Amino acid sequence: MGRRCCLKPKVGEGFDLPEGNDGWSDWTWFHARAEYPQRFTVLCQSPVHYAGHFYKGRMVACAGDDCPLCAKGLGVQARYVFSVVEWESRRVGLLELGRGHALSIQDWMAQNGGLRGLSFEIERASRPKQSRLDLRLVTDAQPVFIHHLEGPDLRRAVESTWRRQASQLLSEVRSGEVAPAQGSVSPKGAEQRSA
Ligand SMILES: [Zn+2]
Repeated sequence: MGRRCCLKPKVGEGFDLPEGNDGWSDWTWFHARAEYPQRFTVLCQSPVHYAGHFYKGRMVACAGDDCPLCAKGLGVQARYVFSVVEWESRRVGLLELGRGHALSIQDWMAQNGGLRGLSFEIERASRPKQSRLDLRLVTDAQPVFIHHLEGPDLRRAVESTWRRQASQLLSEVRSGEVAPAQGSVSPKGAEQRSA
């Protein structure tokens, strides 16, 4: 994208974290696919939640009192983020759900005896990002490798992701620029974007 051509990336030497990176905003955000169901097991004892605006095809955290998206009159949605491990890839990451699905998971907690260790399958009904998301409880025994896995400090991971990526978008909204349609500022950038 054009505007990035003048930026000068900084390259550092050694094992330190790059400038501006606190190591918490690099978590994978999983997205449901339409091609096949993905299985996840929850690693956290409780999700975290935030208020989000759906803006230009993505979810943006509400910035609170001075939020430019509230000022535009956009509604807010309750969003819930869970730390999970995906069975197939064995990757640990974050999964965000809307309130309806979060409440399904809350219902399943009773039969699971808690949130951690609860497994479910998600799948999109069709390819478009906004198409229906199906969640199903999985009662099969979970793979052994999952038992000792720990998720990240959820609040810290989510706050960090938003600080780094949403602030950029919000400043664009404030200054009246048009946000890029794809790519650089989505908190979901690490994963397949079309899912
Ligand atoms: Zn807002």
